[in-house]
Amino acid sequence: MWRRLGRGEWQTLHEALDNPDGDRLYAVQHEQACRSRAEREAAEREAQRPVCIACGQRFTDDRWNAVRGRWKIETDGLCRPCLDAHRERAEAASAARYPPPTSAALFSRSALRFGH
Ligand SMILES: [Zn+2]
Repeated sequence: MWRRLGRGEWQTLHEALDNPDGDRLYAVQHEQACRSRAEREAAEREAQRPVCIACGQRFTDDRWNAVRGRWKIETDGLCRPCLDAHRERAEAASAARYPPPTSAALFSRSALRFGH
């Protein structure tokens, strides 16, 4: 009695030799099983792909990889374009709040400190 790879049932040697399509059939079935599993895994992966909290776009692989496993900060919910826009706005806002000192301001401050 022989047991062939991928077959649940036992076969006699005669049956196994008498079944030349077996390996090819097995290969086809194996390929189909692999393909449908890959498709299912891809679908499951897509279902988990985060969606941007600002624009609703699904994350790209790059962006997903960047935030995967952390998702600790608010901006981790943003896709790449929204994150860039958010950073630009934040920079503009902080620049408006804390304007870089001009040379005139520096001069007047040092003038105050040393002026007599
Ligand atoms: Zn977005």
